[in-house]
Amino acid sequence: MSMQSEITTSSYAEAQDAADPLAPLRDEFVGAESDLVYFDGNSLGRPLRVTGDRLRDFVAQAWGGRLIRGWDEGWYDLPLTVGDEIGRICLGAAPGQTTVGDSTTVLLYKMVRAAVQARPGRGEIVIDSDNFPTDRYIVQGIADELGLTVRWIEVERHGGVSIADVEAVVGPQTAVVLLSQVAYRSGYLADTPAITEVVQDAGAVVIWDVCHSVGSVPIQLDEWGVDIAIGCTYKYLNGGPGAPAFAYVAERHQAAMSQPIQGWMGHADPFLMGPSYEPSGGMRRFLSGTPAVIGMLAMQDMLELIDRAGMEAVRAKSIALTAYSVDLADAMLAEHGVVLATPRDPEQRGGHVTLNHPKMREVVASLWLRDVIPDYRDPGGLRVGLSPLSTSYAEVLAGMTAIRDALSSA
Ligand SMILES: *Cc1c(COP(=O)(O)O)cnc(C)c1O
Repeated sequence: MSMQSEITTSSYAEAQDAADPLAPLRDEFVGAESDLVYFDGNSLGRPLRVTGDRLRDFVAQAWGGRLIRGWDEGWYDLPLTVGDEIGRICLGAAPGQTTVGDSTTVLLYKMVRAAVQARPGRGEIVIDSDNFPTDRYIVQGIADELGLTVRWIEVERHGGVSIADVEAVVGPQTAVVLLSQVAYRSGYLADTPAITEVVQDAGAVVIWDVCHSVGSVPIQLDEWGVDIAIGCTYKYLNGGPGAPAFAYVAERHQAAMSQPIQGWMGHADPFLMGPSYEPSGGMRRFLSGTPAVIGMLAMQDMLELIDRAGMEAVRAKSIALTAYSVDLADAMLAEHGVVLATPRDPEQRGGHVTLNHPKMREVVASLWLRDVIPDYRDPGGLRVGLSPLSTSYAEVLAGMTAIRDALSSA
């Protein structure tokens, strides 16, 4: 049997699962026992079984029993304590630099404004044309609001932003550069430390959006000298729909940066309820209103699981899963006209793979009816999102086989 066809057999996929040191962790997720194929953990991660207990206990004991005393017993500091855990486990960030709060969209607005304000006299914000819609819209809105110019980096939809792309646009007018570490469409993984250096050499502030990388790609914000990062907690951090986002601000910037949504929770002394706003020291100044305590419960379970597995092991499995789906696409889908729209080099790839075909919109719709759940992104892209701790090799094979079957009857 040739290698090409061997990988398409269930015995091959089963052997991969049997040899996978992280395979037992999959049973800790709700739904692990079902035949459903989930290829969207990069969009909304599966819940852990222990999260059900955590939510029920929270209602019965913390909320129901401690009532308003809960604020003094941990809730008030939860954005900072959970932030530190995200920083330690997933971001390579020392304590005191990460906080949780707001949606990614709102937090991004706050952080871009803070970064722009830290570079007075500079008139440009740089972003790529294929960044996530929210990121592009927020940057355009702030530019309109403050009379700045957006400098667009044009990128290929199957690729992403290179070092040379950034070198070509930054200069003495650049205030802020906002980029995604992993491109939401193509899965392209940017050279984060090298681009950070290019931006800082131009005197600008870099903001990394790590929504599509946190929890699947190792990140070393302190080591790389990153200025600001923001990210989602409901994708690979499995915080549940609408779970709040996080922001990292390097300690050296905190005292000089201020954000525009001045609420009482970011005040130096919230319970003074004084006449005017005075920002807190440290990361608390980036908070605005009452933190989403319930929204921070589920992510704590996933953080604990990632901590147990270790980010390096998570990345190793992520690469193996994306490589397997690329190999299966070559073996089973290329003959149906499917084109890989993700880098082949694993060093340039995050945790998902995009497959292009003119019929993918219809294919995805028919797969959802059969409990095979990828997602669709224009133009013609089916995204195979592979959450490393909750996806098995057998699941990848079943899903890719279903895509082939749907294509041959499309
Ligand atoms: C998922 C994602 C968002 C989502 O923002 P929300 O405010 O949570 O809806 C923003 N930016 C990027 C890059 C994303 O991947």
